[in-house]
Amino acid sequence: MPLDDRSPASTPTDTTARSDNYLWLRLRRLLGLLTFVDLPIKQKFLLLTVGTLFWFGSMAVVTVLALTAIQYKYHQVSEQIMPHQQAAHEVLRHLQNIDRDLQFLGQIDTGLDLLAVQSLREHVKAIRAVNARLSLHQSVPSGTFIETVVRSLATPPAANLQYLQNMVVLTDRLDQSLDTYITTKRKMPRPADTITVASSFDDTRARVAEGTALVNQHASRMAGAYGHINTAIYQIIGDSVNAILIVLLIASTLLMFFVRWIIVAFQRPIATIIRQIDSLSTGDITLAKKVAVKSQDEIGTLSSKFNILIDSVYGMTIYKKVIEEDADLDDVYHRLGDVFQHELGIAHYTIYDINTQKNEMRVVHPALIGDVQLHCDPEVLSNCQQCRAVNTGHTVSSFEFHGVCRRFVPQPGVGHICIPLVAGGHTGGVVQLRFATDKRHGLLDSSTPQKIFEAETYINQSLSVIEAKRLMQTLRESAMVDPLTGLYNRRFLQEHTAQIISGVLRRKTQIGLLVCDLDYFKQVNDAHGHDAGDQVLRETSIVMKKTVRDSDIVIRFGGEEFLILLMDVQPGDALVVAEKIRKSIEALKVSVGDKILQKTISIGVAEFPGDTDGFWQAIKYADVALYRAKDLGRNQCVRFDKEMWQHGGDF
Ligand code: GH3
Ligand code: MG
Ligand code: MG
Repeated sequence: MPLDDRSPASTPTDTTARSDNYLWLRLRRLLGLLTFVDLPIKQKFLLLTVGTLFWFGSMAVVTVLALTAIQYKYHQVSEQIMPHQQAAHEVLRHLQNIDRDLQFLGQIDTGLDLLAVQSLREHVKAIRAVNARLSLHQSVPSGTFIETVVRSLATPPAANLQYLQNMVVLTDRLDQSLDTYITTKRKMPRPADTITVASSFDDTRARVAEGTALVNQHASRMAGAYGHINTAIYQIIGDSVNAILIVLLIASTLLMFFVRWIIVAFQRPIATIIRQIDSLSTGDITLAKKVAVKSQDEIGTLSSKFNILIDSVYGMTIYKKVIEEDADLDDVYHRLGDVFQHELGIAHYTIYDINTQKNEMRVVHPALIGDVQLHCDPEVLSNCQQCRAVNTGHTVSSFEFHGVCRRFVPQPGVGHICIPLVAGGHTGGVVQLRFATDKRHGLLDSSTPQKIFEAETYINQSLSVIEAKRLMQTLRESAMVDPLTGLYNRRFLQEHTAQIISGVLRRKTQIGLLVCDLDYFKQVNDAHGHDAGDQVLRETSIVMKKTVRDSDIVIRFGGEEFLILLMDVQPGDALVVAEKIRKSIEALKVSVGDKILQKTISIGVAEFPGDTDGFWQAIKYADVALYRAKDLGRNQCVRFDKEMWQHGGDF
């Protein structure tokens, strides 16, 4: 029969409660995912680092973008506005000088002033140079990488190019009209040239005025653009400061949240575990101090494993307290069996108790009733040395060596481990645990080694208590046994009265009560000495024990007075047994030295509950009957009769 080590199925729970539980579990799992609660510690810190880097990176990106934008704007100012403004000033100055020189030449009636002409030419040349410089400036990218990028992005505005084109055209036209003016003026005073001179003079001045207007217009446009760029730079600086502040705020809030969370997730469970360890060292263990398991990371695992440890230490402490207060050895064995079955999930086990004096062992739990069968050769019960665990004092495991014990009755798919209960230098019992095996005779269930370990721990905890209980039992038993005859004494009867009465009432039978007293026993002592008297008492006891059934109880009630409980007799049977005893004693020959002693006995007989509902009252009735036997001449058995009580009640 293969073994099933699984624990009993759990009771079915309410469906609504289960679905609520399920929702709560899903919610917790989602929260766990969002807060990284269940990730291993390494990954948590990795994510924290990535998060911090992300926010640092965000701040860096905002800063770089802002600075690039500002640089772009400054580039516009320095590369496009300022050179144009400067050029405009220069061109304006040259145009003013040209106008001044023209007016000067205009006042000269004939011929030319060579210096003025030269000055005019140089001013025009200077204007050309300015134009050339501007166009050159537009086309040469240089500087750092970002600067180059910015430059390549910053294409000159179309208005600037248009201005340059207009300015070049205008300069050419100015140059031409100036040429015409100077040429015609040089030929004067030819009358024909007078008109031409005047017209070219006006034409040249018109060009100068046109250029001045163009430059002024361009200069004012540059001033406007400069204003726009300034405003834009302010805007960029303001926006980037705000963005950096927002990023800083988010980053510091998240960091605070994480730091607090780390404190909650790490510091609290560890502090609780430390407190619990302190409690453990002082022996103050309470389940109320369990560590809350809030995550499935290493801390969560540590907490739950610690809780399991607390459970087992607590369970063990409680277990030991309970078995210490248990009434007797059998209670302790039962308790150990309950732990195997209900706490450790070991369904198949047998606990044996050993009687060292008799060299026997008996099954104490579970009792061999109904389906429960002995898994060992029954011979071990009558000779406990046949048990390998008892014989060696060591644990015997078929999982370590298949078929190690020849007394274990082989069963397919079943292996055993037998642990001797060794205390005080001798083996007082054996615990046999049975588990399912695989085809190679190994353990089938991976949780079994843990179960065996825990079972051994419980067994070790029980050993001292088992030993103490055994000692107590021996003491109690010796206090209930008469040392001279080995029979139970009056104390035994007092302790077991309730048990005896309930048994007989349950079985609806009778107890025959025989109160026996040796006749003239005092004479033995007087004539042959006390030792001879003792010898007679011992042999009388043996005869009595032999004459009644094993289930009957013979008690030495007083000096030479015995009480025999004949269990489960039919009404009237007790007197027959009494007579049998009387005859056996009469026939008994006790050798004392070279003499043979023979004694007789008188027996009073009553029945419980036939004669009375009171057990002790029934004994009293038997005693009354005994007195009647003595009165009637001794060596006889007398059945109690109600008539005797009216008479005997006076005793
Ligand atoms: P009766 O027939 O009336 O019972 O006479 P009896 O002599 O037996 O009665 P009694 O009760 O007067 O004497 C009992 C004697 O048994 C007294 C005591 O010395 C003796 N006795 C009691 N206990 C022991 C014991 O343990 N050993 C010995 N040797 N004698 C004992
Ligand atoms: Mg007596
Ligand atoms: Mg007597």
